[in-house]
Amino acid sequence: MTEAGTTAGEAKKVRPIVPYLKLPEKEGEEAVLVGVRCKACGKAFLGERLVCPACTAINQFEPVTFSRTGELYAYTIVHQSAPGIPVPYISAIIDLPEGVSVRANIVDVEPRPENLKFGMKVEMVTRKVREDSEGNDVIAFFFRPVEG
Ligand SMILES: [Zn+2]
Repeated sequence: MTEAGTTAGEAKKVRPIVPYLKLPEKEGEEAVLVGVRCKACGKAFLGERLVCPACTAINQFEPVTFSRTGELYAYTIVHQSAPGIPVPYISAIIDLPEGVSVRANIVDVEPRPENLKFGMKVEMVTRKVREDSEGNDVIAFFFRPVEG
């Protein structure tokens, strides 16, 4: 039996690093990026909005779940970063089919230009990046090249 009011016996929680990363809630689900689409102009955005930055329509949004695969639009191989951040790594912009671009690191590939092609297919993956002050796992999203 667990006692209410104690934290020792509570299951460890996972938390997304950004609010627009939706983590799986049950078996079989996958993490996805979520956002909204403006019903007035059709533009999609990551996360919540109240006013459309494209057409200034107010509160005319419907929810969107973004594809887990996209295309590499641009990248840079980072060789110098803040202390404690391993380098080199690939910082990239990924175009998703719903018309949004998202910044993320590319993983699971050696950070060399010959391994990266503009327009190559990439898929989203999630990894634990650290623990927060309450001991919960903080989950971030990355993209990796799609095999084949
Ligand atoms: Zn709009």
